[in-house]
Amino acid sequence: MTVELVGLTCREMEELLVRMGEPAYRGRQVCRWVYREGAGEVEAMTDLPLTLRRRLAESVTITLPVLQLQRQSRDGTRKLLLGLEDGLTVETVLIPQPRKAGFTLCLSSQVGCPVGCPLCATGMSGFRRNLGVHEIVGQYLLARGLLRREEQTGVIRNVVFMGMGEPLLNYEAVLKAVRILTDTAAVGMAQRHVTISTAGEVEGIRRLAGEGLQVNLAVSLHAASNRVRDVLVPLNRKYPLELLEQALQEYFARTGRRITLEYVLVEGVNTSNGDARALARFARSLRANVNLIPYNPVSGSPYRRPSAAEVRRFQREVEAGGVRAPVRQEHGSDIEAACGQLRAKNAPGRGRKSAPAHRTSRE
Ligand code: SAH
Ligand code: SF4
Repeated sequence: MTVELVGLTCREMEELLVRMGEPAYRGRQVCRWVYREGAGEVEAMTDLPLTLRRRLAESVTITLPVLQLQRQSRDGTRKLLLGLEDGLTVETVLIPQPRKAGFTLCLSSQVGCPVGCPLCATGMSGFRRNLGVHEIVGQYLLARGLLRREEQTGVIRNVVFMGMGEPLLNYEAVLKAVRILTDTAAVGMAQRHVTISTAGEVEGIRRLAGEGLQVNLAVSLHAASNRVRDVLVPLNRKYPLELLEQALQEYFARTGRRITLEYVLVEGVNTSNGDARALARFARSLRANVNLIPYNPVSGSPYRRPSAAEVRRFQREVEAGGVRAPVRQEHGSDIEAACGQLRAKNAPGRGRKSAPAHRTSRE
């Protein structure tokens, strides 16, 4: 039986090598080759004895997703469409940070999404399956390999789970991927440079609070009243705002980490002054950061993006409530940069022609 190395922790690689009768440090070497050097095959692991490389080559594989398509926008945002072993596809987006400071990588956690938010192209495309750990970490390794081959100076500084899917509904795999990405013996990113975005999956938020991690949590709030949120984020019918708020209070109390509330502005749906005041109240009680994001039109959707003046009015009203509410820059709207669109275009019968632009996380 062959073992897939991508998606194993360094500890698991040590155990694997020990089972093969080797010392544990050989596992750490393999780990460095896979996650630091980005080795695509055992043959490349030149500090392992030749005989061990031969034995390993017979029993392990290193599998990354396959780059099927990429598009680059004027602002440098790059969207990658990646093929998985079973023929399904997911999207990963590389977003350059200002002043050539590196890149933010936006990862997918599922193929499609079961939450079904009507403002989101991924949500409208239905749900196929969870991604495995190797497919999540594989997105990172593939994107980094691409940058390295091009000798891009910038490195991937931030990882945000803001691609396709609801990360906390694929909890085990996402958490293991986060551990590999932030293990200093493996990929070695700082935990504070990882952001998990959730539609408000209360169970998962509770679990995450107990993991002892320093990652960032973003919540796609989009409405601070149950009446509106029930429509914009259908998960709200399972976990209404009162439950969500309680879970977030506990999260903040346990981790001491400020939460970011994402609020997509949809004209005439969640943009009244009353909505702004409700948002300010909600954010204040949690001492949360707020990001305002003008809705990015998805073709076939009835929703519209508010005018710049409307966005400013809403922002002023939130800030009058004592909460800073920056409007987020969007990236790559000219290449239809996220959430199911490139995939939709390349999967006939899935029917969506445009989708939201990606945006950077708080950092
Ligand atoms: N499922 C998680 C992670 C995906 S993040 C979550 O919802 O938080 C994707 C982000 O893009 C979410 O905040 C989502 O609400 C937002 N988004 C989806 N469609 C959008 C659109 N058309 N315009 C602007 N933002 C959109
Ligand atoms: Fe899923 Fe997030 Fe899209 Fe909602 S916004 S459908 S939770 S990916």
